[in-house]
Amino acid sequence: MQIDCGFDSGNIDVISAEDPERVELSIRKDVGGEHSQWFHFRVRGAAGTDCCFCITNASTTSYPKGWENYRAVASDDGERWFRVPTTYVDGELRIQHRPATDEVFYAYFAPYSFARHEQLLARVAGHEGVERFRLGETLDGRPLDGLILHPTEDVASPKIAWVVGRQHPGETMAEWWMEGLLDRLLDGSDALAKKLRAQFIFYVVPNMNPDGSVRGHLRVNACGANLNREWETPTLARSPEVLFVRDMMDETGVDFGLDVHGDEALPYNFISAAEGIPGWTPRLDTLTETFKSAYEAANPDFQSVYGYELDKPGQGNMTMCSNQVSQRFDCLAMTLEMPFKDNANAPDLEEGWSPDRCRALGHSVLDALAAVAPTLR
Ligand code: ZN
Repeated sequence: MQIDCGFDSGNIDVISAEDPERVELSIRKDVGGEHSQWFHFRVRGAAGTDCCFCITNASTTSYPKGWENYRAVASDDGERWFRVPTTYVDGELRIQHRPATDEVFYAYFAPYSFARHEQLLARVAGHEGVERFRLGETLDGRPLDGLILHPTEDVASPKIAWVVGRQHPGETMAEWWMEGLLDRLLDGSDALAKKLRAQFIFYVVPNMNPDGSVRGHLRVNACGANLNREWETPTLARSPEVLFVRDMMDETGVDFGLDVHGDEALPYNFISAAEGIPGWTPRLDTLTETFKSAYEAANPDFQSVYGYELDKPGQGNMTMCSNQVSQRFDCLAMTLEMPFKDNANAPDLEEGWSPDRCRALGHSVLDALAAVAPTLR
């Protein structure tokens, strides 16, 4: 049996692969040594063999609670990802599987490669009224690119929506979600999408952290910065990704901001809003509640019962994107969280929370946006 991770977003160290029933592995730390959880590796030469892949350092990763009731994903072709029996025992994550083919991939969640990211940008930019723009260069020298979807009608003052994802690169569900959002926005037969395209200018950054993504990080960029803790004082040396986006937001203004993430522990889709900012108002509260209700009505995979505890008034962490953007522009700005595990209200035994369901949730966000559109300003 051979195990490797020498590819886009690969992450694993092999301790011992002699006994298929106890293959010992460990997850590498992100740069900086603080975070780890993402894994992605390939196994060759084990077709028809009962294997147990034991991640021996699972208890020392960033979110050990993320392993409870969690099942790893596997794929024979890198396209379709299915869940495999996984247990978290004695501080170890044990993935049990009998590969059907000679080459199988295992990962924390369905990976979203840089190649696919490039294809998404190119595909969307090929549509009329869409502009691909370069925000700048990352520390590893990659382009940080976004998309502008210009209004389809000549409106005097279009509303401004900013949607960003994958500040935490291991949260690949965010970019699968982006596909759903973008595909619907470009669907000329979708009346709601057409209506929103006429009123809004959309700025979309599907992947805020390409360096961390390719490096196989969970949470940080190439120099170890957690981008979603950099929004108060981003710098070119440490967090150029955030600096570029925030500078451009300052130029365009923001009426609606959404930052898309995944949560390791909670098996639900939910919104975390900016209740703790100094500038929180009844207007922002009403907008938040209206958005959440409409999202729930549009897609039952979204819910608002489970989520994070609300920040106390004035206690919000201003280094986070949604808080900083909401305060800075006095606008509705939120964080969307999706599960690594599954939606416990509607479990899917085969795939769990999956790329298809992420896309569907990205599609439905336009219903929620339409509900708040008339009162965003
Ligand atoms: Zn996150």
